[in-house]
Amino acid sequence: MTPSPTNHVAVIGAGPAGLMAAEVLAQGGATVTVYDAMPSAGRKLLMAGRGGLNLTHSEAMPEFLKRYGEAMPHIAPAIDAFPPAALRAWSEALGQPSFVGSSGRVFPNAFKASPLLRAWLRRLDSMSVQLALRHRWIGWDADGRLLFQTPGGQRAVDARATVVALGGASWPRLGSDGAWVEMLAGKGVTISPLRPANSGFTVAWSDIFRDRFEGQPLKSVALSFGAHTVRGEAVITRSGIEGGAIYALAAGLREAIASSGQATLRIALRPDLGEDDLMARLSAPKGKQSLSNFLRKAAQLSPAGIGLLQEAAIASGVSLSSLSPASLAGLINAVPIELNGVAPIARAISTAGGIAFSELDADFMIRPLPGVFAAGEMLDWEAPTGGYLLQASFATGAAAGRGVLKWLERRIASGE
Ligand SMILES: Cc1cc2nc3c(=O)[nH]c(=O)nc-3n(C[C@H](O)[C@H](O)[C@H](O)COP(=O)(O)OP(=O)(O)OC[C@H]3O[C@@H](n4cnc5c(N)ncnc54)[C@H](O)[C@@H]3O)c2cc1C
Repeated sequence: MTPSPTNHVAVIGAGPAGLMAAEVLAQGGATVTVYDAMPSAGRKLLMAGRGGLNLTHSEAMPEFLKRYGEAMPHIAPAIDAFPPAALRAWSEALGQPSFVGSSGRVFPNAFKASPLLRAWLRRLDSMSVQLALRHRWIGWDADGRLLFQTPGGQRAVDARATVVALGGASWPRLGSDGAWVEMLAGKGVTISPLRPANSGFTVAWSDIFRDRFEGQPLKSVALSFGAHTVRGEAVITRSGIEGGAIYALAAGLREAIASSGQATLRIALRPDLGEDDLMARLSAPKGKQSLSNFLRKAAQLSPAGIGLLQEAAIASGVSLSSLSPASLAGLINAVPIELNGVAPIARAISTAGGIAFSELDADFMIRPLPGVFAAGEMLDWEAPTGGYLLQASFATGAAAGRGVLKWLERRIASGE
């Protein structure tokens, strides 16, 4: 395809999915403009890089694909075509080689997202991809042109094809606010409700606990819900609990809360100590020590961990000091925490729900909207943290880009 105004493709959303679609389109010879509501591109990608940009994961493909749950059959072809190895090679070609961390997660050597994003934007620029920032997409005009709100007023844009890659609804201040739901639903597109994924939960902490332990981590704990146990870290928040190990259980907890209003999470504060070992430690004479000091020394519990034990004891109407070493040992490795709600989507790492896969063809075109393709987190999939979110965003962006190229070629061939 030769670049020309007749094959102008509008990509809306300058996140990982949209920029990847733009790259594939430009490589295929399309004339590409990427529009974004924000004053700069890739804000969520940059935020994702704040604590270490987890690009993808190194586990074997069958396990990798299982992370997408029910959406796996729809996501798998895109990831097969742009697998983790291809993503790592792509990053390396942008001067950002990557390494596999101890958990199997893959990070760029620079750890951050900014060098990768800078190099990527430079390369897109060298491929003549135009970037139109401060362009908020607000729908279509009566002639089917894309309508944007810009600082200079409304602007209508003609495009031969469009890729929407507008993200989910978490962290709306970074640009993706889910406002697209109404626009697409108004065109008859089925959208499964947007819900928080990899999110925290609310807990009715006592005032004392909340004031004392807000912001404190629970390190090297094991969290269990139903048949699932995850080791890692959680953080006490003012209104509940969040953190990596919580996110890993979040989908199941969210569904349980949706159906019964609550879910009981169990926390093992010393998962490496067997019950007998703990019991032996707790059977030592306490002497004149306070119970907190005794627990801190005998079981090496943190103040927040001891606070959690107190909360659980209060909730069940017993005094912690009245418990036998055996009961205490049992409690330390299975502290029940009653979750009574899901933290707001604005604070979630990612979004579940989105455009239903039944609305997309195999090339990621939205069937009710011929010529409009969709990619990234705005599609109806979810996955745990671990690099699966970015991998699927990049891979579906590439797939939508290829889909547009095929569609344009068919139309050009048929003289349309
Ligand atoms: C704190 C945090 C840490 C994370 N860490 C990781 C991690 O380490 N690894 C990982 O795999 N994932 C991580 N994620 C998730 C990952 O960042 C997202 O899954 C990914 O950015 C989604 O890509 P996307 O292109 O679909 O959407 P986005 O990155 O959200 O991009 C969508 C773009 O669309 C634009 N937009 C939205 N609406 C409009 C409109 N109406 N008009 C014009 N433009 C619009 C937005 O401004 C935005 O630029 C993290 C997320 C957060 C919040």
